[in-house]
Amino acid sequence: MSQVEIPPWTPPWRVVVCDRVIRVSAAHVRGEDGWECPTQIAVKARPAVQVDREPSLRPTYPPFHSFALGLARDAAYSVTASGTDPEVALDRVCASASGEVADAARSVAREALQGYLIVLARLRDAGTLPSETVVREFFAADEVDVRVEWSAWGLLHVSRDGADREYHVLTWEQAGTRRRDPAYLAVYARVAADAIMKQEGSLWRERWPAAPAQPGPAQRVRVREIGVLDATDALLLDISADEARERFAGVVAERVQVLGGGATNPGTRCASCAVRYECPGPARMPGVLGVAGPALWTRGLSPGDLTTARTCTWQVHLERELSLPRARRETTEAMIRGTHLHSWLEHAHARLVPCSLDDLPLPGEGLGDVAELLGWDEPSYAALRPFLLQHIAACPLSRDDAVAVYPEQSLTAWDTDVDVVMSTRADLVVDTPSGWVVRETKSVAVHHEMPQTAADVFERYPQVALTLCLLADGLDPVTGGVAVDPRPARVEVEILRPDGHEVRGFHTGDPEAVLIARASIAEAVDTILYSPPEPTVGRHCSWCPVSRWCAAYRASSGPSGAEAVEDDVEVQGAERPRMSLLAYAESVTVEIESDIPF
Ligand code: SF4
Ligand code: SF4
Ligand SMILES: [Zn+2]
Repeated sequence: MSQVEIPPWTPPWRVVVCDRVIRVSAAHVRGEDGWECPTQIAVKARPAVQVDREPSLRPTYPPFHSFALGLARDAAYSVTASGTDPEVALDRVCASASGEVADAARSVAREALQGYLIVLARLRDAGTLPSETVVREFFAADEVDVRVEWSAWGLLHVSRDGADREYHVLTWEQAGTRRRDPAYLAVYARVAADAIMKQEGSLWRERWPAAPAQPGPAQRVRVREIGVLDATDALLLDISADEARERFAGVVAERVQVLGGGATNPGTRCASCAVRYECPGPARMPGVLGVAGPALWTRGLSPGDLTTARTCTWQVHLERELSLPRARRETTEAMIRGTHLHSWLEHAHARLVPCSLDDLPLPGEGLGDVAELLGWDEPSYAALRPFLLQHIAACPLSRDDAVAVYPEQSLTAWDTDVDVVMSTRADLVVDTPSGWVVRETKSVAVHHEMPQTAADVFERYPQVALTLCLLADGLDPVTGGVAVDPRPARVEVEILRPDGHEVRGFHTGDPEAVLIARASIAEAVDTILYSPPEPTVGRHCSWCPVSRWCAAYRASSGPSGAEAVEDDVEVQGAERPRMSLLAYAESVTVEIESDIPF
């Protein structure tokens, strides 16, 4: 088996190197570029390289434990490794967790633990898994110039003779439905094949020593995903131990390039990143959110959280502070339409030419270059064409001075006054000689007018308010840095309907608009930061993605059935709640990528 070469990394800040050990977790090589930060991965993979930090600068941590799947995994480990009673195991794990384990998090962990044990019993009954297995903390290692340790998060079961090995990758639910990168699976298979039992009490920051006793030689390795909340399982890999070793280097070689760091990819992840004080990635923008006050710990928020806070602060607590699993929503027609329209516009605008009628032939006479490139079928094209026709008149590139376009641009700022990292994603940024144009595009099936007042627009589309404030204070939407002399910018929201369109824009040079935008953000951020979270039970609970974990909702009789979102919003009457609810309905249907944080 050839060795995998790990690229070197030169930390852009002062460090103390205690040892030259590299520790690569399967999660580091899953290749989800859009969602991960290479510098953060480079840091995580070097546990013995520590930031040489001013002792007075101490990172703050949230008071809550926010990794319920980790609690369940550790309790399952205790049950399977030492035969501890599940309830006792969970109690011990919760008692020794860093941060307070909230009741809701404990319930989630308990359900997850039960689900895991159900799957385990099923696999054993079916004879798929040996009736007795050894479960310990295992890793694999290569020793060339530096020591490279390979690790994978989950539970590895080894048969008594060592020959049969099965790695359990834990996920919340619907095992097997999510694409797992071959490199990610290769690390699981390699650790299973070359499993070294770790000595008890090994420290994270030091190279892991091997325990005195080790398993017998491996023959077969399997990687199985387990959905702990719905007791599902899916076999992802079943190969010989030799094959796992042979395939390994070839499959992971390219993916480990991310360990060379280099680029940063700021986002809400910066709020919990160990090097956030030193890293130049997140733009420091004190005061940009318009809130001043003491901060107890660094938080990461998105515009969706502001919308949620206007409806129920308890949901922000369950979702954001405790990171409890969100219910997977049925994919709605509106979601599919939104996703398809976004990709069409993204690809069309990347050409740097205005969208035109030539791109939208009559149904039956072709799909046009963009829809063809995206692999749309006739019926999808016919259904979406009316929206796209409306866009042609509103296309931001129909202006003749566009110099460059940047679709799907992520904007992040760290308001160091309130210690909040806020991140949003702009659909399109256009560079023009007279400044930036940032465009957000929404589609609605039924006739919704654009909200009338600026305050209503900002409440309905908090990402527009946030983008306006960030750009007004000098955030460069392309480099992510802060300009001393901000360029002028216009932030626009475009609404597409099958029978019309509207574009509403705000200029960073309009102090009143910026003031209203900042007040709108500040009000919601202030609520999240300084009001104790409280459940607000109502009809909206039927859309709440974490209602399953909400004791107040369960205690109430619970609104019956989930009516169509738009019908429900219509009955709310008054303008302001309607605006909040429309925004809420949209925000809860957006899937958030939730995964193992290592
Ligand atoms: S602070 Fe943000 S940008 Fe910097 S390494 Fe951490 S996650 Fe990446
Ligand atoms: S179920 Fe209702 S009360 Fe509970 S967190 Fe969700 S929105 Fe709030
Ligand atoms: Zn266009």
